[in-house]
Amino acid sequence: MVDPPKNLRTRQAENLLEMLRHSGVLNVERPRQVYCNRDINLGDVGLIGFDMDYTLALYDQDAIERLSIEKTLERLVDERGYPEEILGLEIPTDFAIRGLVIDTRRGNIFKLDSHRHVGKVYHGFKEVTGDDLYEYRVNSMRMTTPRYALVDTLFALPDAVLYAVLVDYFETAQADKEHDWNRLYRDIRYCIDLAHRDDSIKDEIIAHTDRYLERDVDLALTLHKFRSAGKKLFVLTNSYAPFTEHILSFLLDDLLPEYPRWQNYFDIVVTGAQKPDFFTQRNPFVRVDTDGNALGEEFSNFDSSAIYQGGNLVDFERISGFRGNRVLFVGDHIYGDIVRSKKSSAWRTVMIVQEMEQELQQAAALRQENSRLESLELELRRINEEIAFDQGLTYKVDSLLHGNGDAEGELADFDPDQLRSARREIQKNRDRLRRRRRELLDETLTLEKKFEAQFNPYWGLLFKQGNKNSIFGEQVEVYACLYTSRVENFVHYSPLHYFRAPRQPMPHERY
Ligand code: IMP
Ligand code: MG
Repeated sequence: MVDPPKNLRTRQAENLLEMLRHSGVLNVERPRQVYCNRDINLGDVGLIGFDMDYTLALYDQDAIERLSIEKTLERLVDERGYPEEILGLEIPTDFAIRGLVIDTRRGNIFKLDSHRHVGKVYHGFKEVTGDDLYEYRVNSMRMTTPRYALVDTLFALPDAVLYAVLVDYFETAQADKEHDWNRLYRDIRYCIDLAHRDDSIKDEIIAHTDRYLERDVDLALTLHKFRSAGKKLFVLTNSYAPFTEHILSFLLDDLLPEYPRWQNYFDIVVTGAQKPDFFTQRNPFVRVDTDGNALGEEFSNFDSSAIYQGGNLVDFERISGFRGNRVLFVGDHIYGDIVRSKKSSAWRTVMIVQEMEQELQQAAALRQENSRLESLELELRRINEEIAFDQGLTYKVDSLLHGNGDAEGELADFDPDQLRSARREIQKNRDRLRRRRRELLDETLTLEKKFEAQFNPYWGLLFKQGNKNSIFGEQVEVYACLYTSRVENFVHYSPLHYFRAPRQPMPHERY
């Protein structure tokens, strides 16, 4: 066989390279891949920052949810006079997901799609259907009013669980009373906030850290890999110094010989950052010790052995010498970490979505059902087009029959009997198409229900609502340049990797 000419071989090699780039890193399993919404070349990034809770530190969700619920129920009884009976209520921890919205006026919780249409609604643990659901569907949701509370971090899942549990409880235990669902929400929020602020949640995590967190050497290797490529690293957390010190030493101390202490991995450590205010206000940086005691505000450079508290974006960029798109920030909180940093700065963003791991594993097991759903959707679209075409034909035939159509050329040759018989044929075809559409819709609904029940039993998939993106999915798409299930996943990629977003055709570009 004759060798292909050199320029052809070069082109083939380029094509192969391009394919490899688009397929990501071939041998990384899907739950551990890094996904790209907007192109980003890690080679251009000089400074990489990490949020701590739920980013560097991935908590066992079931354990931490139980802990916050227990502490909150105690406070509802002690601080707000709720009946002691609530301490013995059964609490499911598989109820809440991120992206839910609490309607604090009605005692309901719902999930939205990317067009702000309400998909599913629960009152307590009862699904709302019929007229009550319809009313939500016709009223477009204006999320900015205080009536609605968005569950946008994993720390807020207990808010939704407790709200559903206590709505159910009060409707049964005090069935003859008027309920103030707004008051219930405010009490829950107050007590959860209190349990965070009085350190009762943190004290338990500190006392039994291995119940809540796992050490993974890949985290240390990932940070090391970035450092070896010349990147500077920083921590930017809302947790204060004592808790940060405890958690990061648990996760990172003594894992790699070059880094005996967690602080050796980072060039700048900012605690008590008060995100999202960090990105919009001008709070000063204060140097603190590991107990959180202030040591002074005066400094012109960040010292890698120091811990800072507070601070703001403008001074951070000025003192660190890195700004805009040379900074990559990795966080889990769609609003505090991702939306705010994206809106207030040109920082590039990575969102950590730990739920993806389980969801992608389940999706892989349901591949057949998924491809059936896709083909049903295609057939439905085709049938809708045929029905619309037939409607156009009927209209045309009717106007010819009633003498108000422009019966020129060949059309003028048809007599009314022929037109009537054509009309009957079109009608028959349309009825057939409509029956088929009904069958397809029924099969789609049944399959969608079965499919979604394999994920969260109440809400289905995190990123989807029906065949649209959920509001959570949409926010990840709009605000996060990259997203992945955990920081350690970067260990599989070069620290200079060029992430490229897949080309997304608009509807008119699809054939
Ligand atoms: P980060 O994710 O590292 O920025 O830290 C989040 C911090 O916020 C943790 O210290 C949490 O304990 C704290 N936190 C989460 N939810 C609440 C709340 O409702 N009230 C007060 N603090 C909270
Ligand atoms: Mg966080």
